[in-house]
Amino acid sequence: MAGYDDNNVFAKILRGEIPCDKVYEDDHVLAFNDINPQTPTHVLVIPKGQYVSSDDFFSEASDAEIAALFRAAGKIARDKGLPQDGYRILANCGRDAHQEVPHFHLHIFAGCDLGVMIRPNR
Ligand code: 5GP
Repeated sequence: MAGYDDNNVFAKILRGEIPCDKVYEDDHVLAFNDINPQTPTHVLVIPKGQYVSSDDFFSEASDAEIAALFRAAGKIARDKGLPQDGYRILANCGRDAHQEVPHFHLHIFAGCDLGVMIRPNR
């Protein structure tokens, strides 16, 4: 796997070099609204640590970082009332998943019928 690119857009957001519409922050996690939302609610949840992808995060992050990320996602969803109608959490990893930003992130989608889970290009 390629090393972490310190110039990716989420690294710049974490350093405060470009703004974000912040939804949540703690010691390990930052969450903000997606700049190009695919659904009425579209939040990105990212670790503050430098992890390229889910593969990198799940193998290299500490238990505290992993717990913090998923606790944060759950809290954001609850605080927004999303469990009532439902929501979807997704993480793209690598080429076939069309991961655009090489800093691991969860997407939280909600606010409309989210359709079938996936339509692969076979
Ligand atoms: P990926 O395809 O890597 O899973 O998703 C990357 C997401 O980051 C996309 O949904 C895209 O709209 C979002 N994104 C890219 N650049 C920015 C930015 O500068 N600010 C915010 N808030 N979101 C961004």
